[in-house]
Amino acid sequence: MKLARVQPILLASPAPHQESRAAAAPCFAILEGATAWEIDGPFEGQRKRTGRSWPLAEVRLLAPVVPTKVVCQGRNYVEHAAELNNPVPKEPLIFLKPPSSVIGPDEPILLPQASKRVDFEGEIAAVMGRTCSRLADDDSVAPYLLGYTCLNDVTARDLQKADGRFTRAKGFDTFCPLGPVIETDLDLARATVETTINGERRQFGRTSEMIFSVDAIIRWVSRIMTLEPGDVVATGTPAGVGPLQPGDVVEVAVSGVGILRNPVAARED
Ligand code: ZN
Repeated sequence: MKLARVQPILLASPAPHQESRAAAAPCFAILEGATAWEIDGPFEGQRKRTGRSWPLAEVRLLAPVVPTKVVCQGRNYVEHAAELNNPVPKEPLIFLKPPSSVIGPDEPILLPQASKRVDFEGEIAAVMGRTCSRLADDDSVAPYLLGYTCLNDVTARDLQKADGRFTRAKGFDTFCPLGPVIETDLDLARATVETTINGERRQFGRTSEMIFSVDAIIRWVSRIMTLEPGDVVATGTPAGVGPLQPGDVVEVAVSGVGILRNPVAARED
């Protein structure tokens, strides 16, 4: 099932018999074919259809959840650790991106003038469906998961090196594109992630190449911080990271989920 957050597009001149959609608030929806069906919420005990629906062409897809936090994983693919001359970690290396950095599909990534090199990092992201805390090594993670989506862990590489920490480099507004949908039935073992710039492939990775599995990461994180419904756990990026330029279009595609597409623009500071 594909879950999304949508906002009906303002119709320029709605016919008299149509209700005005100008004030329609964002809502959660199930996507089926070319139709978005409004639901009361994406989580367990929700997903009741309200009866309202729209053709996909008449809604804008937003970031599919509003997380309380985005937990990211550094160096989870051997080749990516090597390309930045980093050792392969012995246990997960995590950091947070602020919820304020999240944007949806088609929203521009804004390059701040404080950085001379802003990189894309295409990643598979798990979305939590239930509150999750202190999981043991033999606990199943599946009951706590809502599904998977695409994430771009945009990073000011020069600031990351200069600061020796990640908060500024990965925390700018617009540095966390997320979406376009959450797939609840992804075959994670066979999933791949691919990043393209202007249609040219730059990154490709398989979950089988990860150093720490998604389940292992979530169990480990849950022993540090409670994960809430809608929280996002990104799983690291494969080799091939590189810089973004104003005018680029970057796409992160996770097989079975969809394509997260964002234009890139300079920020007017
Ligand atoms: Zn990353």
